[in-house]
Amino acid sequence: MRRRSLIVANWKMHGTVASVQSYLETMVARAMPTGPEVVICPPFTLLPAAVLIATGSEVVIGAQNCHWEDKGAFTGEVAPTMLVDLGVRWVIVGHSERRQYFGESDQTAAARSQAAQRAGLDVIFCLGETLEQRETGETMTVLERQSAVLAGLDPARLAVAYEPVWAIGTGRTATTVQAQEAHAALRRRLAGLLGTEAAAALRILYGGSVKPDNAAALLAQPDVDGALVGGASLDVEGFCAIIHAAPGGGRGAGE
Ligand code: PEP
Repeated sequence: MRRRSLIVANWKMHGTVASVQSYLETMVARAMPTGPEVVICPPFTLLPAAVLIATGSEVVIGAQNCHWEDKGAFTGEVAPTMLVDLGVRWVIVGHSERRQYFGESDQTAAARSQAAQRAGLDVIFCLGETLEQRETGETMTVLERQSAVLAGLDPARLAVAYEPVWAIGTGRTATTVQAQEAHAALRRRLAGLLGTEAAAALRILYGGSVKPDNAAALLAQPDVDGALVGGASLDVEGFCAIIHAAPGGGRGAGE
């Protein structure tokens, strides 16, 4: 099954009002309805400006996190309903930096994802093993544990991002063989959790030091349906080059 490529920019804690404007104006001018689906996830402060510029275009705006309640005494938090109110369509949940630095657990990631979908957001659910877990042969056990929570989610509003922790922001990318192996195993796992048809339609993104020069090979793998791009998404030309490297993007494999 051919799934439309999904290329997501995770700006992390970067960007200014001026930079979001010029970046998004470039993206809006270049994104094509027939090309890969493009989602830009700036920090919360830049979401209003991003939504304003992207509205009516092929570029979609996502957030990097959301809370699991719709309102309440949660100082500093942002509810999924607030994101929907703003015009945001996607949210990243369970990113390894949230798991590593902010106490995100499988349970809180599950609660955030369920709340996000209830509010009407599509979820990019991140999972992946650490270097130590890979080296001790625990990769699949970790992915099975982290993916168990997906059983409670609507697959039509879901993408899964396989992000080996050892490849995030390190410049060290999974090989195409490692990426395809993990994605294929995840798809088999998702078939058990969500049903064969849903798993076949669901997009599994690769994340971890994706750059313009390694994107085409990774995105050509049969079970790699897109990319979650951190550092390399901050440069609009580099990010556009990654989009072009995806199948359907103009110069991906077989085009
Ligand atoms: C990420 O933030 O999800 C990510 C994959 O970062 P980087 O591309 O910088 O490794």
